[in-house]
Amino acid sequence: MSDPGVQASIHKNLKTTLPRIYNYIKASRFQEVNLLGRLYSDTAPVTLSHWALPGGAGAWQEWTFDEIIKQEFTATSIGEQFGPTWTTHWFKVEYEIPDSWAGQEVRFRWASGSEASVWTADGKLLQGLSTGTGHQMRPDYTLTKSYEGGAGPSVLYIEMAANRLFGAGEEDDIAPPNPNKYYTLTRAEIASVDTQVYKLTRDLEVLHQIAETLIDLNDQRGYQALYTANQMVNNIIAGKDSDAGALADAYFKKANGERVHKLAAIGNCHIDSAWLWPYSETKRKVGRSFSSQIKLMEDYPDYIFVASQAQQWQWCKEYYPELYERIKAKVVEGKFLPVGSAWVEMDGNIPSGESFIRQFLHGQRFYQKELGFMCKEFWLPDTFGYSAQIPALMRHMDLSRFLTQKMSWNLVNKFPHHNFTWEGIDGSTVLAHFPPGDSYTMNLNVDEVVKTETNLQDKGRVGTSAFLFGYGDGGGGPTQDMLERAARIKDSDGCPKFDITSPDVLFTELEKDQHNMCRWVGELFLELHNGTYTSQAAMKKLCRKAEFQFRDAEFLLSAAIGTKGPEAASLLKDSLALLDPSWKKVLLNQFHDVLPGSGIGLIYPEAERYYNEAISAADTVWEASAQTLFGSEEITTPVAFNTLQWPRQEVVTVEALKGKSNAPQHMLIEVPPLGYSLLQDTPPAQPVTVTQEGDLYVLENSFLKAKVDSKGQVVSLLAAGDGRDFFVESVAASSNEGTRHGNQLVIMDDEPVYWDAWDVMDYHLETPKVMNALDSSFEVTDVAVIESGPLVARLRFSLKISEKSKLSQDIVLTAASPYLIFETSVDWYENRKFLKVLFDHNVFTRNASFDIQFGHLERATHMNTSWDSARYEVCGHKWCDVSEPDWGMAVLNDSKYGWMARGHHLTLSLLKSPKAPDDNCDMKTHIFKYGLMPHLGTLVEANVVQRAYEFNNSLRIVNLPKTTTDITPQWSVGSFDGEGIVLHTIKPDEDGSGDVVLRLFECRGARSKATLQLNLPITDVLNCGGMEDASGKAPFTQDSGVTSIPINLTPFAIKAFRLKF
Ligand SMILES: [Zn+2]
Repeated sequence: MSDPGVQASIHKNLKTTLPRIYNYIKASRFQEVNLLGRLYSDTAPVTLSHWALPGGAGAWQEWTFDEIIKQEFTATSIGEQFGPTWTTHWFKVEYEIPDSWAGQEVRFRWASGSEASVWTADGKLLQGLSTGTGHQMRPDYTLTKSYEGGAGPSVLYIEMAANRLFGAGEEDDIAPPNPNKYYTLTRAEIASVDTQVYKLTRDLEVLHQIAETLIDLNDQRGYQALYTANQMVNNIIAGKDSDAGALADAYFKKANGERVHKLAAIGNCHIDSAWLWPYSETKRKVGRSFSSQIKLMEDYPDYIFVASQAQQWQWCKEYYPELYERIKAKVVEGKFLPVGSAWVEMDGNIPSGESFIRQFLHGQRFYQKELGFMCKEFWLPDTFGYSAQIPALMRHMDLSRFLTQKMSWNLVNKFPHHNFTWEGIDGSTVLAHFPPGDSYTMNLNVDEVVKTETNLQDKGRVGTSAFLFGYGDGGGGPTQDMLERAARIKDSDGCPKFDITSPDVLFTELEKDQHNMCRWVGELFLELHNGTYTSQAAMKKLCRKAEFQFRDAEFLLSAAIGTKGPEAASLLKDSLALLDPSWKKVLLNQFHDVLPGSGIGLIYPEAERYYNEAISAADTVWEASAQTLFGSEEITTPVAFNTLQWPRQEVVTVEALKGKSNAPQHMLIEVPPLGYSLLQDTPPAQPVTVTQEGDLYVLENSFLKAKVDSKGQVVSLLAAGDGRDFFVESVAASSNEGTRHGNQLVIMDDEPVYWDAWDVMDYHLETPKVMNALDSSFEVTDVAVIESGPLVARLRFSLKISEKSKLSQDIVLTAASPYLIFETSVDWYENRKFLKVLFDHNVFTRNASFDIQFGHLERATHMNTSWDSARYEVCGHKWCDVSEPDWGMAVLNDSKYGWMARGHHLTLSLLKSPKAPDDNCDMKTHIFKYGLMPHLGTLVEANVVQRAYEFNNSLRIVNLPKTTTDITPQWSVGSFDGEGIVLHTIKPDEDGSGDVVLRLFECRGARSKATLQLNLPITDVLNCGGMEDASGKAPFTQDSGVTSIPINLTPFAIKAFRLKF
């Protein structure tokens, strides 16, 4: 039955009734006569003057508000243009509200086609403005809800940024920004609002949306909405506005029944920490977005908003301290809440396990210290795939709730759940929720609300879903219109029941239904954006380097504070003061458009600078720690440091050793675990040799024997003492296997469907050219022998990729290395080409193993299912291994993350050349290395994990302030007894108490037992988690100054201890 008082339309004609309502409330040629045309009852001009802040991107950071308003502002007007891109323009706006507007709502209206913000005359940031994008608009600021009259002349200021919400791309958003774009000011005025018309507009808008959505679903409520709206229009035309409003109220008042699905609506504003704009613009986006939300809270006291990324809160504190204080007050009220735990919303594939932990550690510590708040969830709506170790990393940080929506972007397979128990490689589980609306930037339209229920994959299993609303990607957040729509449908029959609430309420509801959820084991592989493992190669290389440099620095710092106690107090204080902001630079650079390489070119020089500053800070800490430990006399002696927990024997190359010739010197050195050794030559048990067999070069040491052809292909590879070849040297006439060679340098076409820097499409695999094949058409110089033993053998060749690009490579084997090393330099100036190295091997296996955060992951080497088939480019860290049960080979690398293991092909992705959003991406010289390691037994028996650590963490040659006579020839703070456990982290605790935190992980996927022995003056050993809070005593024994800590770990488990001195 229809509502009493609602008269249905005369004709049953949806094709006219629906658009009639739409036209009545939207900007159109009917605006002169429709309802929207009545929204502003009057307008009045303002007086404008302008001052252009000197400089481009980020220059605004040098100016305070007080300095700005003292500058000379000159008169300007509507129609003027302001630019170029990334510049800043300030406007003084003088206005006087007419007394005749008393009692009315008054708004300031602005249109500059760009982002802007509103300030009071005394420097208080009031709200963001955004116009010109055609979507995500925020074109006005409410001066007063009810003008009291008599205010007289008033002033406000507008800061205009010469960029849109999505940067300054010309043809489309992801095109490289146009640096010379100018923005035209088309509106600046004050206007009085007819609030009755505003109410009716929102009523009609929502009824129209309900009609449109529910009629499609054959729901009677849709027709009721249609006729209610239609009669409202008739009433308004008849001059009966209040009758029209009453009809809408009656419709919305019809409440939902008990069976209805509930939505936990969460207001948010996704702000990419850098993407189509640089970091400096993000800081302003934070100010604009956060102030807009505070402004909304004035009028909607029940409204709750969440903001992720502690870094952005930190920026708010630093650049907008007055706003930050207002936000803090709202945190106390539970209205403006941190979410997500992490320092930034990082890439979900590439950061190391330790980086993930630091993301949480620094994020949570910020929220805890600043706001007395701890997040309970990991919030990562927009990242390009999720490591299979994330559940364990979360549990280590005491987090059990995970949210994303990006899996809805899968190109091939629809992910089968929106709610599930996610189990990682160590068996840890967390509750995972994907908002079924498949978006974090919803506008609170009825179709989105209804979709959240209809699209839910877990119907009958859960009673609640998240609904994430608010402008985002470029920031912004919810608007007044969204909250007005929410008020109308929050409990109106036909729509899901709706509450604007917090993530905690959402997850508390979901946890009640967790027993009904299915389980998903392993990674959340995103079947899209797989080029992000390779684009912007320097980001990956510097990230890896920083992770290892911090590891070294924290180890030596911990050894110093453990050994020297209070004597090292100032070292500890100074070092923490350096490490904290340096880690935060690295963490910021792990943001999900910076590390993956999907940002504009402007971002990367700054990001590189941050990495380099962080790395040099780590080096400073290393040096200061060495001085505290070993003194600072002027006479020095070089030693080799090993920060890993096992003894190492390696060939090191020392430039111009004291007292020796100026030529680089090779030395074979044995270094104890967690310590150093004097540079004392050890004769190799077996030297490395190079011999020639026809056109082939044979490299051999005690670990392996390899044959390299004249173009640098590895045509034969044997583990020492074994007859099985990983490759096929030549084609036997009867063989159908063809040749199988390693180190084939392959170039492929790489033209994605749309997302240039992000993607690599399956069809790129159809276009390989092996550039260093014997019959290739590429120019390749013949391999030359550069060094021929006894400690180092080195072959060299180079190849011309194109007129602009070339590659040169040294193939190196040392007397002590169990792998061949490929030291590679590429001058890279291609357009949409993909460079990979292919190992076409003989290993027969259905699975390949890939290094990930604190563990490894197996993936199928076939295309049986659509899920396997979609994994043609996958992420792995330091190594990938293909093995038969007693024989296999691993490929190692120092800075690469993209792999494919399919059939007999194992490829490592080296370089991409996308042109959007950075048209200069990776156009430079790149230096990197990879390794090829044959082995007997399994990857575990061959210690592939340990060899990959060594490959990335060379022995460190350091000059210690001692003479050779007074120096301890070998120094070590500990050792490990037992297999399968890696001591990854030794760090001072974050509070600077002088305690040291250890973090270990099980690296084999087995139950492992080991004893860590430390010869440091330890007084107690405590268990702790990732937040470093002690949780009871751990077992340990002590004997003659050595503390032994027994450790028992289940497969791939992560464990931390806190040592007291
Ligand atoms: Zn994003």
